[in-house]
Amino acid sequence: MMKIGILAVQGAFVEHEAILKGLGVVCKEIRCKEDIEEPFDGLILPGGESTVQGKLLRELGLYEPMLGMINDGMPVLATCAGMILLAGKIEGQEQTYFATMPITVRRNAYGRQLGSFYTESAYDVLGNVPMTFIRAPFVTVAGAGTLVLASVDDRIVAVQYKNQIALSFHPELNDDTRIHENFIRLCRQQNI
Ligand code: GLN
Repeated sequence: MMKIGILAVQGAFVEHEAILKGLGVVCKEIRCKEDIEEPFDGLILPGGESTVQGKLLRELGLYEPMLGMINDGMPVLATCAGMILLAGKIEGQEQTYFATMPITVRRNAYGRQLGSFYTESAYDVLGNVPMTFIRAPFVTVAGAGTLVLASVDDRIVAVQYKNQIALSFHPELNDDTRIHENFIRLCRQQNI
């Protein structure tokens, strides 16, 4: 049975869990080092506050082992703050976190007026999907090897690099489950 680990130290992890459970996937909340010792097939990095998550990852001893997993090919679905954790560069700050994706992101990129909004837009082969943005980042540079999965108003909001998918928006906040189903397929392929 497919088992997916969800970083559960801060932010919107419960919603991912609800969607995955609905799709028949076993979820494992990850809060400490011991939680990642038993094997699982994919990892979710949820939205929230990247600075807080980054700090907690270090304090809980999760940073090194998780980085190792991602580098070893663990499929990752990262939403919003999760995208920031994966970015190789974050505009306007020195600090990066996992930095396993060759992308540059701009945090809180939509400014105050458009802090949060909803739209429907084309996503890879899926056609239009619902997209809920909450103080979201977007990608300003997608480096070599990065596949752009979705753009909204000429701004890149979804990318894939090898085993990692990063989204500016929150697919877990709408009842369309196709992005999670897509991710489960990626996890299956990786396990063959
Ligand atoms: N603004 C948050 C950050 O910079 C991300 C927001 C979110 O995950 N919804 O980390």
